[in-house]
Amino acid sequence: MKTIARRQFIQLSAVAATGAVLAPSRGARASDLPHLGEDDPMAQAMKYTHDASTVDASAKTNAAENQHCANCALIQGDDGAEWRPCQIFPGKLVNANGWCSVWAPKA
Ligand code: SF4
Repeated sequence: MKTIARRQFIQLSAVAATGAVLAPSRGARASDLPHLGEDDPMAQAMKYTHDASTVDASAKTNAAENQHCANCALIQGDDGAEWRPCQIFPGKLVNANGWCSVWAPKA
């Protein structure tokens, strides 16, 4: 019985070690992600644009002024980066000067 447990431990350790070797692809840097295109169907559904200054004020459901991705509660990544991840568009980067209809103020 003790031998079986040791064998299982060794097998599990081998599986864990293999996962550790393969894991770097999951930890890819955000800067490696593709930019969200304005022609992307999801971007169009959310009225995303790379340039918030082009958005008509009447299109905004939130009355707050100076809305852009860099001051949105849903932006991720590093402050100051031109292209950053966004919770609404997983796997893509949005422009810090961009905007979409989901914009929400940071708390
Ligand atoms: Fe930009 Fe916020 Fe829309 Fe994401 S949710 S695209 S950060 S405005």
